[in-house]
Amino acid sequence: MKAFVIEKDKIKHNINTVKEKISVPLVGVIKGDGYGMGLAFMAQMLKECGIAHFAVTEPQDALLLRQEGFSEEEILLMRSTCVEEDLQTIVDTHATATVGSLESARLLNIVAKKNNTVLSAHIKIDTGMGRYGFLESELDKVKSVFTDYENIKVTGIYSHLCCAYCSDKKTYKQFAIFKNVVEKLKAAGFDTGLVHLANSAALFRYKDMSLGGVRIGYALIGRVLNAKNTGLLPTGYLQCEIADIKWLPKGHTLGYGSGFTTKRPTQIAIIPVGVKDGFLVGKQRDTYRFRDYILYILSESKKFFTKSKIGVTVNGKKAYVLGHIGQGHTVIDITGMDVKAGDMAIFDINSIFVNPTIPRVYV
Ligand SMILES: *Cc1c(COP(=O)(O)O)cnc(C)c1O
Repeated sequence: MKAFVIEKDKIKHNINTVKEKISVPLVGVIKGDGYGMGLAFMAQMLKECGIAHFAVTEPQDALLLRQEGFSEEEILLMRSTCVEEDLQTIVDTHATATVGSLESARLLNIVAKKNNTVLSAHIKIDTGMGRYGFLESELDKVKSVFTDYENIKVTGIYSHLCCAYCSDKKTYKQFAIFKNVVEKLKAAGFDTGLVHLANSAALFRYKDMSLGGVRIGYALIGRVLNAKNTGLLPTGYLQCEIADIKWLPKGHTLGYGSGFTTKRPTQIAIIPVGVKDGFLVGKQRDTYRFRDYILYILSESKKFFTKSKIGVTVNGKKAYVLGHIGQGHTVIDITGMDVKAGDMAIFDINSIFVNPTIPRVYV
């Protein structure tokens, strides 16, 4: 059966590895269906490792977690919202809101008042991500969140790093802006509560960014960009049986666009896994910045000259992909390997890209 296999002990190993690295509270980020692993499952893993503070992006996720029985844990909704339905869900789930603008504070306060409650909220500072949050220059607005809204209790403040995986300079700049805002608030006598900034990349790349707490997602599933020797383990893989095998003669084309022509008689295996399942989706080119564009061109030409190949594991051995990967199919070269139709092929896929319709199997 095609399935995404998730290894519980490896996820726990990763949670514990993160815990050992820090001396401040860990907020377990489980957005996007727990990075594709399953929301309630990831919450359970964190709970079993003693973590009772979760963070999600959708109010609906807070609701799901409460319904799944996570009634005591603190759930931070990591975005502000001016949508009444979302605000009501925050009240209903007694989640911790994010206030990133005065309008979101005003509306949150109204909904909290209407429900006769006081809601916890963390203030978000935009230090460079350019999405939610107050700018450094809006300190007066930030102060008014503390003072002007009776039904909001500020219990934390945070910012989000945009470049922790790729730029020391930008990351240190964001860190400095954030620290400056927090220090000014403290100097003015405000209790900022939990002060948090670092994500996975920042935790594993910088020693001194933990502040009062860290928000960690990717590290829990063992994937941190541009960090070496993390001690983290990969936690999941896609498995699928080989549907059929056959021999192709020399000079036979293969796949869409005839992207490959056999140079010798070649035994192939066909596996019904392709882009729609998430295979190689994460490897799509990232060319937002000119530098990324140049790096992309360089890496593609390097691949062309070195013929670097994409691998799939079968019976413990690497087999290489031939031709273009299709929407639903991948072809691998099994010449000289001991492989039969029905043998299991293992694909390394980032869980966030694994099609949600593929069953998750927990081992
Ligand atoms: C996703 C996210 C995180 C966690 O980032 P990782 O790189 O997965 O550790 C932290 N904070 C915010 C606001 C996020 O959206």
